[in-house]
Amino acid sequence: MQDGDLPGTPESDAEFCDDNQRALDLLWLGVSQRAAVTVGEASYNSWLRPLRPVALHDTHVVLLAPTAFLRDWISNKYKGILEREFRVDIPHLREVVIEVGLDARLDLVNSDRQAVRPTADAAVPAPRKGGAIEAPAIITPADAPAPSHAPRGARTSDSDQGLANVLDQNLTFDNFVVGKPNELAYAAARRVADADGVAFNPLFLYAGVGLGKTHLMHAIAWHIRKLRPERKVLYVTAEMFMYHFIKAVRFRDTMSFKDRFRSVDVLMVDDLQFISGKESTQEEFFHTFNELIDRNHQIVVSADRSPSDLEGMEERVRSRLAWGLVADIHPTDFELRVGILEQKLALQPDVKVPREVVEFLAHRITSNVRELEGAMRRVIAYHALMGRAISLDMVQEVLADVLRAHARKVSIDDIQRKVAEHYNIRMAEMSSARRARAVARPRQVAMFLAKRLTSRSLPEIGRKFGNRDHTTVLHGVRRIEELIQSDMSLAEDVRLLEAALSN
Ligand code: ADP
Ligand code: MG
Repeated sequence: MQDGDLPGTPESDAEFCDDNQRALDLLWLGVSQRAAVTVGEASYNSWLRPLRPVALHDTHVVLLAPTAFLRDWISNKYKGILEREFRVDIPHLREVVIEVGLDARLDLVNSDRQAVRPTADAAVPAPRKGGAIEAPAIITPADAPAPSHAPRGARTSDSDQGLANVLDQNLTFDNFVVGKPNELAYAAARRVADADGVAFNPLFLYAGVGLGKTHLMHAIAWHIRKLRPERKVLYVTAEMFMYHFIKAVRFRDTMSFKDRFRSVDVLMVDDLQFISGKESTQEEFFHTFNELIDRNHQIVVSADRSPSDLEGMEERVRSRLAWGLVADIHPTDFELRVGILEQKLALQPDVKVPREVVEFLAHRITSNVRELEGAMRRVIAYHALMGRAISLDMVQEVLADVLRAHARKVSIDDIQRKVAEHYNIRMAEMSSARRARAVARPRQVAMFLAKRLTSRSLPEIGRKFGNRDHTTVLHGVRRIEELIQSDMSLAEDVRLLEAALSN
């Protein structure tokens, strides 16, 4: 966007004409989406989502935050990130200014403006009136049921509870695929959700990013809500916990803070590692925790590592965290990834995805279920928009960037070793000067694979093969390319080696 598109320096929202606002909204959409990737979904929902862009001046952009406290918090923690992201589109931008105010434009809402606004997809910042950040998700019987038509990933939004919307209706036990890596965590979560009283206290879930911690916690909340609606369940991220705590201290309102957190039957705190090193918040958490445990109320905590690995956490906190059941979720295995993809696809029976595509994705995107799902969603979106049938070729094209990022880093050494092993020759032959077919052909196969599986240049590859010239490497690569067409057994060798190396 050119800033020439946005002439003048409007002093009030009223002067800000529709087109400019639309442009600014679009700009903000991109900026906030990128920032969401950096700060994570939970922080994004808590802090950045309520912001509204209201003015773009020559050197700065003005965002509105609903309260002074939020303004200070965001200015402190997220301004740098926002500025960096704005500069992607407006390189000369100097500052992001955050001011307090409700979004006045929303009082003048007309249906037209509504129409150009982004929709409520979790990945897309949806404008919300006043951007209220209020109470955490206290789920009481009074809560309205979640709308059943919301799109995948949508949060139930805009309830009176403010953030009662933090529960994602898709994250239920029914939608959780159980396999070896997560069966313990699943069984424990199930037990807590089914239990009449307290099962293990606390239940401590830990796992790396995107392996289902939040999913299980939301599932517990939904389940209890259905089974025993009279029980008060509170789900909160550790960051939210800290936010409410600091706000309470600042406004000298710690009594109601304590009431709110200590009056629940089930307290769930997600991503506890966030308060590592935050002493006063930890202290408060510790008191809340002890009081609830003493009164025999259930606590569920998640973190990205085990209690004993939570550095920056006081010893007494760590040891109490380990008192109950500590359950970890292991990295997914191939089977589980296929199962998860199939479960997601079963929800969209009209989309046909060949089995080999499912297996290909499960094979290549291994670290994080969220990314795996995202890749699948992208393929389906592309198919829906462009009308192209879903095939391996299509997937490789559409996901080229993702696949590259997930490509296992294979080294030329790995390749040489594997190839030497396969052909039963010595590793030293890879760099030797011998030209006998029995060693020259495997050497060419290794060169071919080095070109294909690594990002090394021909001269770099040549150096690894006894300082050969890059034209020799090129010749070897071409030779194998030809032979693959005519020599079935060589083609099979290459296929096997490639599979072994990218596993
Ligand atoms: P974490 O909180 O551990 O970072 P999430 O619970 O947010 O991870 O999971 C990331 C995504 O992966 C979510 O969309 C979730 O539904 C999905 N997911 C993770 N594990 C499973 C599973 N076993 N079955 C179905 N979906 C899963
Ligand atoms: Mg999570």
